[in-house]
Amino acid sequence: MRIVVAGGGIAGISAAYELAARHTVTVLEQEPHLAYHTTGRSAALFTENYGDGTVRPLTAASRRFFDDPPDGFADHPLLSDRGTLTIARADQLDRAEQLHEAGSSRSDAVEMLDPGAATAMCPVLRSELLAGAVWEPEAADIDVAALHQGFVRGTRSRGGTIRSSAELTSATWSKNGWRINAGDDVIRADVLVNASGAWADVVSTRCGVEPIGFVPRRRTAFMVTAPGGAAGWPMIIDADEAFYFKPDGGQLLCSPGDETPSAPVDAHPEEIDVATAIDRINMATTLGLRHVRSQWAGLRTFAPDDAMVIGRDPSTPSFVWLAGQGGTGIQSAPAAARFVASIVEDLPPPPDILAAGLDLEGVDPARFRGF
Ligand SMILES: Cc1cc2nc3c(=O)[nH]c(=O)nc-3n(C[C@H](O)[C@H](O)[C@H](O)COP(=O)(O)OP(=O)(O)OC[C@H]3O[C@@H](n4cnc5c(N)ncnc54)[C@H](O)[C@@H]3O)c2cc1C
Repeated sequence: MRIVVAGGGIAGISAAYELAARHTVTVLEQEPHLAYHTTGRSAALFTENYGDGTVRPLTAASRRFFDDPPDGFADHPLLSDRGTLTIARADQLDRAEQLHEAGSSRSDAVEMLDPGAATAMCPVLRSELLAGAVWEPEAADIDVAALHQGFVRGTRSRGGTIRSSAELTSATWSKNGWRINAGDDVIRADVLVNASGAWADVVSTRCGVEPIGFVPRRRTAFMVTAPGGAAGWPMIIDADEAFYFKPDGGQLLCSPGDETPSAPVDAHPEEIDVATAIDRINMATTLGLRHVRSQWAGLRTFAPDDAMVIGRDPSTPSFVWLAGQGGTGIQSAPAAARFVASIVEDLPPPPDILAAGLDLEGVDPARFRGF
């Protein structure tokens, strides 16, 4: 089968990797560099206790790949220990208890800590403001660059073609298959996989397929100098996700957890969002943040019901959606890629993904088409 994947972020490249083992695959990426948009701008966390009921099974079914990738995929581990500590004031304790309950239904390692135990893990927390914290030791840092590069190398070694500076500008479907225009090239394909992130609706419209109604939401991140001893801290997350910070290469990666709707663009941070995060983090800690070393923003793209959209479009079955990854597209990519490959190949979903409890209707694009 000839397959074109639109988008060279983590979604597109992981799907290409899976499909290139058995098919002729071409990835089209509009930018000169792959992973330039959301994939290159994440907080790089793997946590199974996050996201809605459709993403959790895909994250859980991805863990094996992260822990034990194929030989030669990466020259060092894809995950490294981090752990998350979700902190709660008295007015947020219900939220922390829900998180604890959800986490402990999955793992015995998840614990509710008192303020003393929480500040022992991260001494800059203001213990007088804390009522409790949820400790999730199995959450880990992802080496996103190594993951993405492993998929790039693997796609190429399986015979796939990756074209950068190759924007899909239009495509038409006929009984002979897809005729896709990308730059000056015309490419033929039997299946088109739409993994274009914030541009998912733009690409579908260019292909004559009705858009879904995705909303890209901007999230801001920035780096500050970390105090001594911070390297071993867990990621600290406010129970309402009003801020988070985590050690990252001698610095602290911080975010206000913002979700501002945006057009699909090259996202840039707003000063107000950075200032908001600094205020919130300074309220909750003794860090006294003032100087920002670098800052960026990325678009987390959500379907109208916030769940991922993975499957054939009912109107044009040779158009396959792999979109709406929101804030969990990296950690769920290995399983999402295997799942979309099974759809393209008309095979049953991988058994481990079904066993993890993926709600097949919950991710099916047909839910937006009145089916
Ligand atoms: C601040 C921040 C923190 C995050 N933290 C985490 C985290 O801790 N863990 C996690 O799992 N996820 C996290 N995420 C979310 C994660 O980054 C995304 O879910 C994921 O990167 C989405 O991948 P993607 O491939 O769908 O999108 P993208 O990486 O944006 O890739 C889509 C690609 O399609 C290309 N494209 C668009 N239109 C066309 C066209 N017409 N022709 C050709 N190419 C086209 C784009 O140029 C782009 O490269 C975070 C995101 C942000 C912004």
